[in-house]
Amino acid sequence: MTEMASGEFALIKKYFAPLGATDNNKGIAVGIGDDAAVLNPSPGTQIVMATDTLVAGIHFPVSASGAAIARRALRVNLSDMAAMGALPKWFTLALTLPVAEPAWLEAFTEGMAKDAKAYGCSLIGGDTTRGPLTVTIQMLGEVPAGQALTRAGAKPGDKIYVTGNLGAAAAALAYLEAEQPSVSVQGLLKRYYLPEPRISEGLLLRGLASSAIDISDGLLADLGHILASSGAGARLWLDKLPLFPGLEENQALLWGMTGGDDYELCFTVPAGREREFNQLLQTENIVATAIGEIVAGSGVVCLDSDGRWVPVDTFLNTKSGYQHF
Ligand code: ADP
Ligand code: MG
Repeated sequence: MTEMASGEFALIKKYFAPLGATDNNKGIAVGIGDDAAVLNPSPGTQIVMATDTLVAGIHFPVSASGAAIARRALRVNLSDMAAMGALPKWFTLALTLPVAEPAWLEAFTEGMAKDAKAYGCSLIGGDTTRGPLTVTIQMLGEVPAGQALTRAGAKPGDKIYVTGNLGAAAAALAYLEAEQPSVSVQGLLKRYYLPEPRISEGLLLRGLASSAIDISDGLLADLGHILASSGAGARLWLDKLPLFPGLEENQALLWGMTGGDDYELCFTVPAGREREFNQLLQTENIVATAIGEIVAGSGVVCLDSDGRWVPVDTFLNTKSGYQHF
C-alpha cells in the first residue's frame, strides 16, 4: 500500500492487470493481484535477474512520451538478458508517478504491452507510488544451468566483437541537448529510445563466446568491465569500429568509443572457435564486427589504421561512460 491509496488499486486494475496473465504455459502460477508472484522455472534452467531504473530528466528527457519511456525501460532490461545469454520470461514494474494521467498511462501501457509481446515476456507484478517520474523494471529470464554468459571468461588471443553499430544514441543526446532537432535526427532518436536488445544474438553466443556485456555506458567503459573481470587487456583497432552511418566525422569516433545507450553486445570469441563463429554469423544473419583482440595484461591499447598507437586519453579526457556519482 502507498500514499496513492484507494486510487492505486483502481489504477492497477485498469492499466496494469490487463498486461499480466496467470498462464501455466508461461510458467506463471500466480500473477498480478496477490502479495507476490509464483513462478515455475523450466526444468534444468537457472534464473537470470536484472533490474534497471529510469529516472525522468536523467535517463530520458522529461518531455518523452509515455510509450517511449515504457519501451525503453523494458528494452534496457532485456538487453541485460541478452548480455547473459538468457531468454527473457517475466518482469515486474515499479512505477512512481507525479500524477495519474489517463492519456499518459494508456500510452505507457500500450507501449509496454507491445514490446512485452514482441520479446515474449509477461508482467507478473509491481508497485505503484506517487513521486517524481521513475520507472523500475525487474526482468527475469532463464538459461540452461551453467551456460550464462558472463564478463569473466576473456583470454589472451580471443577476438573482440560488437554487434550492430555504435554512436547513434550519444549523437541523439548531443543533438537533444543542442535543442536543434531536425529531420536527420529522427533516425538517431529512434536508436536512443528504441534500442534493439540483442536477445537472439545472446542465445546463439551461449557456449561459444568466452565473455559478453551489453554496451550501456560506452564501449571503452563496458569493455573495461570485461577486462577487469577477466584479468586481461585489449588491443582495439579503431578503424574497424562499426559506427552509425552518417555521424559528424569529427565526433563519430568519440561517440562510438564512449557514448552510452547503444545497447549493442560486446563479446569475445576464443581463436579456436573463430571459424564456427563466422559460420554462425552467416547462417543466422548476425551483424557483428571484430574490433580487436584480448591480450595479456590490463587496460586498452588503441591502434589506428596504420597500426600506430592512439593514446586512450584522447577519449577519456572527455567522458568514459556515464557515472551517476
Ligand atoms: P502489496 O500491498 O501486497 O504490496 P499492492 O497493493 O502494492 O500489493 O499491489 C497489488 C497487486 O498489484 C500486486 O500483485 C502487485 O504486484 C500488483 N501491482 C502493483 N503495481 C503494479 C504495477 N505498476 N504493474 C504491475 N503490477 C502491479
Ligand atoms: Mg505494494
